[in-house]
Amino acid sequence: MHRALTLPLAALLVLLALLGGCATTTPGGVPIDTSHPSQAQDSRVLFLILHYTVGNYESALRTLTEGNVSAHYLVSDESPPRILRLVPEERRAWHSGASGWQRHRLLNSSSIGIEIVHPGFALTPPDAAGRRERVYLPFPEAQIDALIPLVRDIVKRHEIRPERILGHGEVTPSYKEDPGPTFPWRRLAELGITPPWPDQARVRERQAVYEAAVPEPEWFQRKLAQHGYPIDADAALEQPGQRRLLQRVLMNFQMRYRPARFDGEPDAESAALLDVLTQREAP
Ligand SMILES: [Zn+2]
Repeated sequence: MHRALTLPLAALLVLLALLGGCATTTPGGVPIDTSHPSQAQDSRVLFLILHYTVGNYESALRTLTEGNVSAHYLVSDESPPRILRLVPEERRAWHSGASGWQRHRLLNSSSIGIEIVHPGFALTPPDAAGRRERVYLPFPEAQIDALIPLVRDIVKRHEIRPERILGHGEVTPSYKEDPGPTFPWRRLAELGITPPWPDQARVRERQAVYEAAVPEPEWFQRKLAQHGYPIDADAALEQPGQRRLLQRVLMNFQMRYRPARFDGEPDAESAALLDVLTQREAP
């Protein structure tokens, strides 16, 4: 009789402990005591990286589930758009390989990636010389409306800092430019999701000063590095590939903050925008 009572009692105690959150097991069955949580912890997720797929829904889904690239979420272009989770948030998705921001590198380990089904751009018919140009296409309103609550939810749960919500092109500027110049970064800023948009009056004021003399490329390189872009602040521009990298970084900056022109060339307005942004960030 005594023995018959013991087992159910033990089972009850284990159940109570589990309900109280004091004991659990690993997925492999190793018992773990979770009754002493540390104060010193935070999410492994520090960044949120936004992409467009270029390919259509079917091809993007195939690539992101069967290929050697992935993202945590895919926002479809159906109506209404659907949000698919392809990789659990606690696992690493492979969406921004050779990336960097400030002192962080290889951001797959510390980010969540969202792919938006969108072609990015269309090509114009060839001109007399056979040249075709990119025309970047707008994002459908419904898709952005679906994206925004997802971004808000992820950012809130992982306490991602607003300045760490970035485009793929910003963290991998040497060969990426998504989500491109039509992505509504300004709207995200006005909604308080990303940092406030650079104050227009201050930009105009600085721009007037820089119209007289546009700063040297080295100045742009330093400011872009200070803002966070993965470029060496003091690299010699004569170094192979450095001028091209600077042009690509500046192009990605312009796509976000001055999408009306994004040739990657230094100009007074870009200098003014960089000045206002980096002054705000100064300690
Ligand atoms: Zn991308």
